[in-house]
Amino acid sequence: MLALALAVAAGTLFAADMKTTKPTAAKDALECAPGEKSACGLPSNVVIDMSKAKIQRTDAEWQERLTPLQYQVARLQRTEPPFRNAFWDKHDDGVYFCVGCDTPLFDSSTKFESGTGWPSFYRPLEKSFVGVERDVSLGMIRDEVHCTVCGSHLGHVFDDVPRAKGKRYCINSASLRFMPRKNYDAWVAQSTVVSTGK
Ligand SMILES: [Zn+2]
Repeated sequence: MLALALAVAAGTLFAADMKTTKPTAAKDALECAPGEKSACGLPSNVVIDMSKAKIQRTDAEWQERLTPLQYQVARLQRTEPPFRNAFWDKHDDGVYFCVGCDTPLFDSSTKFESGTGWPSFYRPLEKSFVGVERDVSLGMIRDEVHCTVCGSHLGHVFDDVPRAKGKRYCINSASLRFMPRKNYDAWVAQSTVVSTGK
């Protein structure tokens, strides 16, 4: 319950920076250049059980909340191109939130250089926030990952890093929002006080 309360509380923090991508950028931004695609970058075709999602919105509401690029990736399971996305080369200290519901999903302390051109993490901040669905589209077997709170598509997870490190969560930048560490710490402190009623 605390987690959900945190997620909902975060909504106001990001209100100002929503819709920062130009609407016309969506189609071009999703076009991969020749040779750019990899198993990580191909779109998904899984059925995410939305009945379990705590936050549900109509299609019109999703389109209103998200930029066209975010909508295409998070809701239609498309994939942004590698090396031409917001966070693949970001090294700032902080936390990455779900673009669809502002749930904190990944910590920058688990982010690593995978060489794929997409932001990659060893593990989610909270395992229960990231759901896995077997994706057998396009003649491959992959594990699609999505936000369990709102059902937004995030990317895929692979078992090709040393087990002691975790896994390789290959995530679309368009499915994420970034919050610097000091803002995150302040937000957690404030949210905890609110949720405990003190
Ligand atoms: Zn979400």
